[in-house]
Amino acid sequence: MVDLKGQYAAIKNEVDSSIQEIIDNTSFVNGPKVHQFQKNLENYLGVKHVIPCANGTDALQIAMMGLGLEQGDEVITADFTFAATVEVIALLKLTPVLVDVNPDDFNISIDAIKKAITPKTKAIVPVHLFGQCANMDAIMQIAKEHNLYVIEDNAQAIGATYTSTTGKKAKAGTIGHVASTSFFPSKNLGCYGDGGAIFTNDDDLAHTIRGIVNHGMYERYHHDVVGVNSRLDSIQAAVLDAKLPKLDSYNNARRDAARKYNAAFADVPQITTPKTVNNCEGICDTCDCHVFHQYTLKVDNVDRDALVKHLNANNIPCGVYYPIPLHLQKAYKDERYNEADFPVTNQLVKQVISLPMHTELEDDQIHFITTTVKDFIANN
Ligand SMILES: *Cc1c(COP(=O)(O)O)cnc(C)c1O
Repeated sequence: MVDLKGQYAAIKNEVDSSIQEIIDNTSFVNGPKVHQFQKNLENYLGVKHVIPCANGTDALQIAMMGLGLEQGDEVITADFTFAATVEVIALLKLTPVLVDVNPDDFNISIDAIKKAITPKTKAIVPVHLFGQCANMDAIMQIAKEHNLYVIEDNAQAIGATYTSTTGKKAKAGTIGHVASTSFFPSKNLGCYGDGGAIFTNDDDLAHTIRGIVNHGMYERYHHDVVGVNSRLDSIQAAVLDAKLPKLDSYNNARRDAARKYNAAFADVPQITTPKTVNNCEGICDTCDCHVFHQYTLKVDNVDRDALVKHLNANNIPCGVYYPIPLHLQKAYKDERYNEADFPVTNQLVKQVISLPMHTELEDDQIHFITTTVKDFIANN
């Protein structure tokens, strides 16, 4: 699904010398490289604080700990996402409230959020799925009315820009009270192992979180709160710092590939190509409205699972993100949920298929992939 080797070739010299320097300095954890990357990412995003940590799942958990959410507090999030989001809510003994998503952009449904709010609701976690922001205007408005925190799960949308109805633009992950991201190798900004970060514009929250990631210490060996050990390795920061200046061009390459896929599938009635929303028409050239962490089609009147097998048989990797709604997963089932409240997720899990998407996709590869998909549909 991703070609990380091709990407490495272009930054090999910088990455290799930077890693060697870290080994020579033995500054393996929280070294100067981590600080340098943190500052560069703060500048890139236009956010006051970036707090690096060990992975994207920790980032979500630490954000929730930093906000002081407590057992029994209800946290609303999307039913159609990677399990990490609901996992940390459950781990912290908060109450996950899974809600349905939109059929066009796969993101959390505003109507469903409104319906799910109770006096116990404390936070909303929009997941900017597949590289495009959820409707942050509406979410921030609801949060204001009900006095809720907004935690953006930005693991799939780093570098994306959100255009609000007023025309104001902001980077994904800088709009809510706090955000988390992941630097897992296959993410749009990925390192060569695990990594993550928390973003916030709130000075007090940033201070609290900086202690939490380091055993609840604000002063050496004084543990004021229960914390965790979640740090970014210097070697990973070196990889990320080499890649950060290229993030926009990486995301442009993804958008180019998405445009070519869209054009190839335009005449196939059984295929719905990804929609861009949030005050953007199509995949525009002028803004980073969608960074295509995944290129995800919906198919109608097509045996999706047979299509997956056919692509695999032709050595084309593909993925089904996600095959099971979270509310039906063994770990997260709950009698509070009513099937009638999840019409979209229940449908999407049967329809979606994600095609290879990365920065090194060549035209002949896209041609081979799209003709293989089209041939299958024409002949089945
Ligand atoms: C990848 C991902 C995470 C978790 O990130 P890790 O670094 O793998 O822990 C969380 N949420 C979403 C939506 C993701 O895609």
